[in-house]
Amino acid sequence: MKLRKTAAAAAVVLALTATATACGKSGSPDDKSDKAGDNKSAPPTPTYKVNTAADVKDSPVFEKIKGKTITIGTKADQPGLGYENPGTKKRTGFDVEIARMIAADLGFDEAHIKWQTIPSEARETQIASGGVDLYVGTYTINDERKKQVGFGGPYYIAGQDLLVKADSDIKGPDDLKGKKVCSASGSTPLKRIKEPKYGVAEAKAQQTYQLCVQEVVNGTADALTTDDSILKGYAAQNKGALKVVGNPFSKEPYGVGLKKEDKALRNAVNDALEAHMKNGDWKKAYDATLGLSGVAASNPPAVDRY
Ligand code: GLU
Repeated sequence: MKLRKTAAAAAVVLALTATATACGKSGSPDDKSDKAGDNKSAPPTPTYKVNTAADVKDSPVFEKIKGKTITIGTKADQPGLGYENPGTKKRTGFDVEIARMIAADLGFDEAHIKWQTIPSEARETQIASGGVDLYVGTYTINDERKKQVGFGGPYYIAGQDLLVKADSDIKGPDDLKGKKVCSASGSTPLKRIKEPKYGVAEAKAQQTYQLCVQEVVNGTADALTTDDSILKGYAAQNKGALKVVGNPFSKEPYGVGLKKEDKALRNAVNDALEAHMKNGDWKKAYDATLGLSGVAASNPPAVDRY
């Protein structure tokens, strides 16, 4: 299902849910990501102590949600980062853990988190309209987005890369001339790949990256481009058929999206991130999620209190 950019954000969210549910192989309860999430031999995710006395002075958003529930936007189809098991509805991944640790510091346990699956292109509208209180989903911090939303973090640095068929001879962005390349609407990788210097024949915009995975499998696209962190999960789901090229050509610092004018909440999110980076939760969460792709954690990045 493909919607026009002009579609209402709510419709986009609904469409995404339908797409994710209808997604065949990758949505099956037996796929790798679910095993990764539920794997008994995988290191456990940390437990976060809920701060029952949490208060964020001068935060309009916190004032609204205090003692109730926090609505957090994320992805549902990105194994290792933001993934929802279609059977159990269990959410797993590094982004989900980052969201859980921040929520705990703000006084919300799992029962008081309302998860919302939001695709890349609907993020700014959902944050600005109050549809979500926080957004944690492979969300690159950049100046253009800062005109509409605020960012806590960064909490991780990814890089744009390419997912191709296992027998493809594409080795990096210089090999994309005349090729069809798929990415998600509203994402930084889609925007970048349209730059004339890459000379792609067609930049295909899809609602989700999983739809681009299908395009590469079917041969209607030569490559899927997005962050290496996301692509590793898809390569693991399609072992032997697809591979990550491993030649990153951008820096994508992941931030926690929130209302632009809520500086108090931004400070509280940054305090939470710093505390969990320092006490070892960040690394434990990484090792139990993204780290399962075989890439060891580097040190957490310094948060940027702009
Ligand atoms: N990090 C990039 C972005 O924010 C790509 C991943 C995504 O679409 O979430 O656009």
